[in-house]
Amino acid sequence: MTEKIEGGCLCGQVRYQANCTKPLFKVNCHCRDCQRLSGSPYVALVGVKETSFTVTGDLNCFEHQGGSGGAMKSYCCSKCNSRIYGTPEIAKGMVLIIAMSLDKPESYSADADMFVKQAVSWDIMNSEIPKFDGSMFKRGG
Ligand SMILES: [Zn+2]
Ligand SMILES: [Zn+2]
Repeated sequence: MTEKIEGGCLCGQVRYQANCTKPLFKVNCHCRDCQRLSGSPYVALVGVKETSFTVTGDLNCFEHQGGSGGAMKSYCCSKCNSRIYGTPEIAKGMVLIIAMSLDKPESYSADADMFVKQAVSWDIMNSEIPKFDGSMFKRGG
């Protein structure tokens, strides 16, 4: 039995659901943008197909240049500002859910670390999982 992939923001205004039993990937991103956006050394991300993802509530969208040069859109609750998910241009059709916005983040530990080159020296990583210097997504892939 797999749990439903669902979650929301701190104030409860935004709720989302992914209509799939397993995420495409789970990765910890240590890039500078994630650090600034989240205020933490890295962000745990859970990838799902955009077609399986539905979200309700009022969101603010912030667009910025991603670590690999492509545009990245970040979506946050318009009320409490929790960052909920992002859509990177280089990984079209994919939604990167901020794992800690899930109702049960416990079940989604990362399979890999990316942008480890940008990690701060006091960041703590699991040495047992693969590391990518930059993005794990190939351009156009
Ligand atoms: Zn909220
Ligand atoms: Zn990042």
